[in-house]
Amino acid sequence: MGLRRPLILLGPPGAGKGTQAKRLAKRYAVPHLSTGDMLRDAIAHGTDLGKKAQPIMERGELVPDALVLALVEERLGRPDAAKGFIFDGFPRTIAQAESLSRILGSRGFGKPLAIEFRVDQERLLRRLAGRWTCSIGGETYNIYERPPKTPGVCDLDGGKLIQRPDDRPEVVRERLAAYERQTAPLVDYYKRSDALETVDGMAPVDEVQRVLLEIAKRTGASDGHL
Ligand code: AMP
Repeated sequence: MGLRRPLILLGPPGAGKGTQAKRLAKRYAVPHLSTGDMLRDAIAHGTDLGKKAQPIMERGELVPDALVLALVEERLGRPDAAKGFIFDGFPRTIAQAESLSRILGSRGFGKPLAIEFRVDQERLLRRLAGRWTCSIGGETYNIYERPPKTPGVCDLDGGKLIQRPDDRPEVVRERLAAYERQTAPLVDYYKRSDALETVDGMAPVDEVQRVLLEIAKRTGASDGHL
Protein backbone atom coordinates (compact mmCIF):
# COMPACT_ATOMS: atom_id res chain seq x y z
CA MET A 1 0.00 0.00 0.00
CA GLY A 2 1.03 3.59 -0.36
CA LEU A 3 2.45 5.60 -3.22
CA ARG A 4 6.07 6.02 -4.25
CA ARG A 5 5.38 9.43 -5.79
CA PRO A 6 2.77 11.96 -4.65
CA LEU A 7 0.09 12.49 -7.31
CA ILE A 8 -1.08 15.98 -8.22
CA LEU A 9 -4.46 16.13 -9.95
CA LEU A 10 -4.40 19.22 -12.12
CA GLY A 11 -7.34 20.70 -13.99
CA PRO A 12 -10.07 23.33 -13.90
CA PRO A 13 -12.96 23.25 -11.41
CA GLY A 14 -15.48 20.61 -12.45
CA ALA A 15 -12.90 18.43 -14.22
CA GLY A 16 -13.54 15.49 -11.87
CA LYS A 17 -10.41 15.78 -9.73
CA GLY A 18 -12.22 15.38 -6.42
CA THR A 19 -14.20 12.33 -7.52
CA GLN A 20 -11.06 10.61 -8.79
CA ALA A 21 -8.86 11.72 -5.88
CA LYS A 22 -11.25 10.14 -3.36
CA ARG A 23 -11.17 6.84 -5.22
CA LEU A 24 -7.40 6.83 -5.65
CA ALA A 25 -6.86 7.67 -1.99
CA LYS A 26 -9.01 4.68 -0.99
CA ARG A 27 -7.28 2.37 -3.43
CA TYR A 28 -3.75 3.28 -2.32
CA ALA A 29 -4.70 3.90 1.32
CA VAL A 30 -3.13 7.36 1.33
CA PRO A 31 -4.60 10.73 2.40
CA HIS A 32 -6.59 12.85 -0.05
CA LEU A 33 -5.26 16.34 0.35
CA SER A 34 -7.81 18.84 -0.99
CA THR A 35 -6.94 22.42 -0.07
CA GLY A 36 -10.48 23.45 -1.07
CA ASP A 37 -11.93 20.97 1.48
CA MET A 38 -9.44 22.13 4.13
CA LEU A 39 -10.39 25.77 3.56
CA ARG A 40 -14.14 24.97 3.66
CA ASP A 41 -13.50 23.13 6.90
CA ALA A 42 -11.71 26.17 8.32
CA ILE A 43 -14.72 28.31 7.35
CA ALA A 44 -17.15 25.85 8.94
CA HIS A 45 -15.14 25.97 12.17
CA GLY A 46 -14.90 29.76 12.14
CA THR A 47 -11.10 29.81 12.46
CA ASP A 48 -9.01 32.92 11.68
CA LEU A 49 -7.92 31.31 8.45
CA GLY A 50 -11.53 30.53 7.57
CA LYS A 51 -12.49 34.16 8.20
CA LYS A 52 -9.73 35.38 5.88
CA ALA A 53 -10.46 32.82 3.16
CA GLN A 54 -14.25 33.02 3.03
CA PRO A 55 -14.73 36.34 1.18
CA ILE A 56 -11.97 35.44 -1.29
CA MET A 57 -13.51 32.04 -2.03
CA GLU A 58 -16.95 33.59 -2.41
CA ARG A 59 -15.55 35.78 -5.17
CA GLY A 60 -13.97 32.75 -6.88
CA GLU A 61 -10.44 34.08 -6.46
CA LEU A 62 -7.42 32.23 -5.12
CA VAL A 63 -6.52 32.41 -1.44
CA PRO A 64 -2.97 33.83 -0.87
CA ASP A 65 -0.17 31.28 -1.31
CA ALA A 66 1.20 31.72 2.21
CA LEU A 67 -2.11 30.70 3.83
CA VAL A 68 -2.53 27.63 1.66
CA LEU A 69 1.10 26.58 2.07
CA ALA A 70 0.85 26.74 5.85
CA LEU A 71 -2.15 24.38 5.71
CA VAL A 72 -0.34 21.95 3.43
CA GLU A 73 2.87 21.93 5.46
CA GLU A 74 0.96 21.15 8.61
CA ARG A 75 -0.95 18.33 6.89
CA LEU A 76 2.19 16.78 5.40
CA GLY A 77 3.77 16.67 8.84
CA ARG A 78 1.14 14.27 10.17
CA PRO A 79 2.13 10.59 10.38
CA ASP A 80 -0.36 9.27 7.80
CA ALA A 81 1.20 11.41 5.06
CA ALA A 82 4.34 9.30 5.19
CA LYS A 83 2.68 6.69 2.94
CA GLY A 84 2.24 9.24 0.15
CA PHE A 85 -0.75 11.40 -0.83
CA ILE A 86 -3.03 12.63 -3.56
CA PHE A 87 -3.17 16.41 -4.08
CA ASP A 88 -6.45 17.78 -5.36
CA GLY A 89 -6.65 21.49 -6.13
CA PHE A 90 -3.07 22.12 -5.00
CA PRO A 91 -0.70 23.51 -6.18
CA ARG A 92 -2.60 26.23 -8.02
CA THR A 93 0.17 28.75 -8.72
CA ILE A 94 3.79 28.47 -9.83
CA ALA A 95 4.87 29.80 -6.41
CA GLN A 96 2.88 26.99 -4.70
CA ALA A 97 4.45 24.39 -7.01
CA GLU A 98 7.95 25.66 -6.26
CA SER A 99 7.32 25.62 -2.51
CA LEU A 100 5.81 22.15 -2.76
CA SER A 101 8.86 20.79 -4.49
CA ARG A 102 11.04 22.28 -1.74
CA ILE A 103 8.85 20.79 1.00
CA LEU A 104 8.80 17.37 -0.66
CA GLY A 105 12.55 17.43 -1.22
CA SER A 106 13.32 18.38 2.35
CA ARG A 107 11.12 15.59 3.72
CA GLY A 108 12.47 12.89 1.42
CA PHE A 109 9.28 12.28 -0.59
CA GLY A 110 9.50 11.10 -4.21
CA LYS A 111 9.23 13.48 -7.15
CA PRO A 112 5.55 14.33 -7.68
CA LEU A 113 3.65 13.33 -10.79
CA ALA A 114 1.10 15.81 -12.14
CA ILE A 115 -1.88 14.51 -14.10
CA GLU A 116 -3.79 17.03 -16.15
CA PHE A 117 -7.55 16.50 -16.61
CA ARG A 118 -8.76 17.87 -19.96
CA VAL A 119 -12.43 18.82 -20.16
CA ASP A 120 -14.06 21.31 -22.53
CA GLN A 121 -15.58 24.50 -21.18
CA GLU A 122 -19.19 23.62 -21.93
CA ARG A 123 -18.95 20.38 -19.97
CA LEU A 124 -17.29 22.15 -17.02
CA LEU A 125 -20.11 24.67 -16.79
CA ARG A 126 -22.71 21.91 -16.88
CA ARG A 127 -20.90 19.87 -14.24
CA LEU A 128 -20.53 22.79 -11.86
CA ALA A 129 -24.15 23.87 -12.32
CA GLY A 130 -25.31 20.33 -11.55
CA ARG A 131 -22.96 19.55 -8.68
CA TRP A 132 -24.36 18.67 -5.26
CA THR A 133 -22.13 17.73 -2.32
CA CYS A 134 -22.92 15.66 0.76
CA SER A 135 -22.96 17.84 3.87
CA ILE A 136 -21.63 14.93 5.97
CA GLY A 137 -19.03 12.92 4.03
CA GLY A 138 -18.32 15.26 1.09
CA GLU A 139 -19.31 12.77 -1.64
CA THR A 140 -20.18 14.64 -4.85
CA TYR A 141 -23.03 13.99 -7.28
CA ASN A 142 -24.14 15.52 -10.51
CA ILE A 143 -27.81 15.81 -11.32
CA TYR A 144 -27.06 15.37 -15.03
CA GLU A 145 -24.26 12.79 -15.05
CA ARG A 146 -24.25 11.01 -11.68
CA PRO A 147 -27.49 11.64 -9.77
CA PRO A 148 -28.00 10.25 -6.24
CA LYS A 149 -30.55 7.41 -5.90
CA THR A 150 -32.87 9.68 -3.90
CA PRO A 151 -32.86 13.37 -4.88
CA GLY A 152 -31.14 15.55 -2.27
CA VAL A 153 -29.82 12.61 -0.22
CA CYS A 154 -26.33 11.03 -0.19
CA ASP A 155 -26.29 7.34 -1.27
CA LEU A 156 -23.44 6.58 1.14
CA ASP A 157 -24.42 8.10 4.46
CA GLY A 158 -27.86 9.63 3.97
CA GLY A 159 -26.43 13.16 4.39
CA LYS A 160 -28.31 16.14 2.99
CA LEU A 161 -26.90 17.27 -0.37
CA ILE A 162 -26.02 20.95 -0.68
CA GLN A 163 -24.80 23.21 -3.48
CA ARG A 164 -21.47 24.97 -2.96
CA PRO A 165 -21.92 28.76 -2.82
CA ASP A 166 -19.06 29.18 -5.30
CA ASP A 167 -20.79 26.97 -7.88
CA ARG A 168 -23.11 29.90 -8.74
CA PRO A 169 -22.65 30.88 -12.41
CA GLU A 170 -21.13 34.31 -11.76
CA VAL A 171 -18.55 32.86 -9.34
CA VAL A 172 -17.86 29.93 -11.65
CA ARG A 173 -16.82 32.37 -14.38
CA GLU A 174 -14.23 33.92 -12.06
CA ARG A 175 -12.98 30.50 -10.91
CA LEU A 176 -12.44 29.40 -14.50
CA ALA A 177 -10.66 32.68 -15.27
CA ALA A 178 -8.44 32.22 -12.19
CA TYR A 179 -7.60 28.73 -13.44
CA GLU A 180 -6.56 30.00 -16.87
CA ARG A 181 -4.58 32.88 -15.44
CA GLN A 182 -2.84 31.30 -12.46
CA THR A 183 -3.06 27.50 -12.61
CA ALA A 184 -2.92 26.52 -16.29
CA PRO A 185 0.79 27.57 -16.46
CA LEU A 186 1.50 24.59 -14.18
CA VAL A 187 0.88 22.26 -17.11
CA ASP A 188 4.03 23.58 -18.79
CA TYR A 189 5.86 23.76 -15.48
CA TYR A 190 5.44 20.03 -14.87
CA LYS A 191 5.94 19.16 -18.55
CA ARG A 192 9.35 20.84 -18.43
CA SER A 193 10.45 18.62 -15.58
CA ASP A 194 9.06 15.57 -17.36
CA ALA A 195 6.47 15.01 -14.64
CA LEU A 196 3.22 15.49 -16.57
CA GLU A 197 0.60 13.04 -17.80
CA THR A 198 -2.79 13.82 -19.33
CA VAL A 199 -6.21 12.16 -19.06
CA ASP A 200 -9.44 12.74 -20.93
CA GLY A 201 -11.65 14.04 -18.12
CA MET A 202 -14.76 13.74 -20.32
CA ALA A 203 -14.62 9.93 -20.23
CA PRO A 204 -16.91 8.07 -17.78
CA VAL A 205 -15.74 8.04 -14.15
CA ASP A 206 -14.71 4.35 -14.20
CA GLU A 207 -12.75 4.80 -17.40
CA VAL A 208 -10.86 7.83 -16.05
CA GLN A 209 -10.08 5.80 -12.94
CA ARG A 210 -8.75 2.90 -15.03
CA VAL A 211 -6.47 5.25 -16.99
CA LEU A 212 -5.20 6.90 -13.80
CA LEU A 213 -4.28 3.55 -12.26
CA GLU A 214 -2.48 2.59 -15.45
CA ILE A 215 -0.53 5.87 -15.45
CA ALA A 216 0.43 5.43 -11.79
CA LYS A 217 1.72 1.95 -12.54
CA ARG A 218 3.59 2.90 -15.73
CA THR A 219 5.33 5.88 -14.13
CA GLY A 220 6.32 3.99 -11.00
CA ALA A 221 4.13 6.22 -8.83
CA SER A 222 2.33 3.15 -7.48
CA ASP A 223 3.55 -0.32 -6.65
CA GLY A 224 3.34 -2.43 -9.80
CA HIS A 225 0.69 -4.80 -8.45
CA LEU A 226 -1.83 -2.17 -7.33
P1 AMP B 1 -11.77 23.82 -4.84
O1 AMP B 1 -12.60 23.09 -3.86
O2 AMP B 1 -10.45 23.14 -5.13
O3 AMP B 1 -12.52 24.16 -6.11
O4 AMP B 1 -11.39 25.22 -4.17
C1 AMP B 1 -12.39 26.15 -3.79
C2 AMP B 1 -11.76 27.51 -3.56
O5 AMP B 1 -10.81 27.42 -2.49
C3 AMP B 1 -10.98 28.08 -4.73
O6 AMP B 1 -11.82 28.76 -5.65
C4 AMP B 1 -10.01 29.02 -4.01
O7 AMP B 1 -10.66 30.20 -3.60
C5 AMP B 1 -9.68 28.24 -2.76
N1 AMP B 1 -8.51 27.35 -2.95
C6 AMP B 1 -8.49 25.99 -2.92
N2 AMP B 1 -7.27 25.52 -3.11
C7 AMP B 1 -6.47 26.59 -3.29
C8 AMP B 1 -5.08 26.76 -3.56
N3 AMP B 1 -4.25 25.70 -3.70
N4 AMP B 1 -4.61 28.03 -3.68
C9 AMP B 1 -5.40 29.09 -3.53
N5 AMP B 1 -6.73 29.02 -3.31
C10 AMP B 1 -7.26 27.77 -3.18
